[in-house]
Amino acid sequence: MNKVDFFIVGQGLAGSLLAAELLAAGKTIRVFDANHQGAASAVAAGIVNPITGRRLVKSWMIDALIPKAIETYQRQEKLLQKNFLYQTPIQRAINEVSEENLWITRSGYEDNIAYLSRDLIPGSPVGMQPALARGIIKQACRVDLPAYIHAWKNYFLDRQLLEQTNFDYASLIVESDQVKYNDWSADKIIFCEGHQVVNNPWFNFVPMVLAKGEVVILDIPNLSVEEIYKSNLTFVRLGGDRFWVGATYDWKFENGNPTEVGKAELIEKIEADLTIPYTIIDHQAAIRPTIKDRRPALGSHPKFSNLILFNGLGTKGASLGPYWSSAMVRFLIYGDAIDASVNLDRFNR
Ligand SMILES: Cc1cc2nc3c(=O)[nH]c(=O)nc-3n(C[C@H](O)[C@H](O)[C@H](O)COP(=O)(O)OP(=O)(O)OC[C@H]3O[C@@H](n4cnc5c(N)ncnc54)[C@H](O)[C@@H]3O)c2cc1C
Repeated sequence: MNKVDFFIVGQGLAGSLLAAELLAAGKTIRVFDANHQGAASAVAAGIVNPITGRRLVKSWMIDALIPKAIETYQRQEKLLQKNFLYQTPIQRAINEVSEENLWITRSGYEDNIAYLSRDLIPGSPVGMQPALARGIIKQACRVDLPAYIHAWKNYFLDRQLLEQTNFDYASLIVESDQVKYNDWSADKIIFCEGHQVVNNPWFNFVPMVLAKGEVVILDIPNLSVEEIYKSNLTFVRLGGDRFWVGATYDWKFENGNPTEVGKAELIEKIEADLTIPYTIIDHQAAIRPTIKDRRPALGSHPKFSNLILFNGLGTKGASLGPYWSSAMVRFLIYGDAIDASVNLDRFNR
């Protein structure tokens, strides 16, 4: 029987980050992934936004998350010889006087000075509906998550570390000091299946509140948005005239496929945002792995200590992933405690 230190199930953002950091720590791994089927990471914009929502709320732990994310992605870019991290501010449309007042107040807070511009830029970019002004969210960035998971997939395939297969839970043999799967054994197995954790017989007790998101890829010649612009929708320039535009939030859905209803909602908002012609190139959908309390979930199964979960990156995987994958590695290798705010055992108390 072949032996590795860790099995990892799922090679989206969570599984890729964890696998990469375990390899960097000198551990041996075997990754199982169903060819990115249903992966949120294959559809996401990958924006790291320190100040979110209508109320301009500072994201949880963002002061620690951003430096860790930049350090991690830059280090991995060097290793893989690929670019996927783009450090770019977000321009945010301000359409009403009340929003302008809120911006002026919030940007004066000591805590927000690093993230919100004090000055507003008048008007909107060419091609967008006129806005009162634009505010700049600083220290934002974007991780090209489809490119990221693709680059890691190739890296793992080249080294024969990745089995492109649907992991069959019924075939996993769990013993007190190891797990076995077909002709392989490992000390521990870490499940990183994103929303598909609901199919996992050991971790389906985690209270997921899944949020489906639909997006479109558009060609918009002559739109003067440089990188990221948030109005009714978020517009992200992918290169040339091509933009990622999204997203919907849907908590009641039948499956993860794109729908006509989702597309109609997007088109209505695009029409409200854009003043110039566009062409729809693609329409995609995926399910965000969101947990009820909006925090990640890390830790061992309550009965079987060699079954581990790394999930719940929710709507903010690009920023949460590097920090918490690093905490996972310290837990797996050195037995460091997992912070109570993300510890899986909060659901067993
Ligand atoms: C429309 C949309 C927009 C988003 N925008 C942003 C954004 O701007 N910024 C941000 O930070 N986050 C964003 N997110 C959230 C982000 O996508 C997630 O936080 C992150 O990608 C989750 O990664 P994951 O690895 O946990 O899950 P996933 O990416 O879903 O990966 C799970 C992987 O596990 C595999 N898998 C599952 N079950 C099995 C099995 N039994 N056997 C083998 N393989 C299996 C799947 O095939 C998949 O490859 C967005 C999400 C969506 C849907």
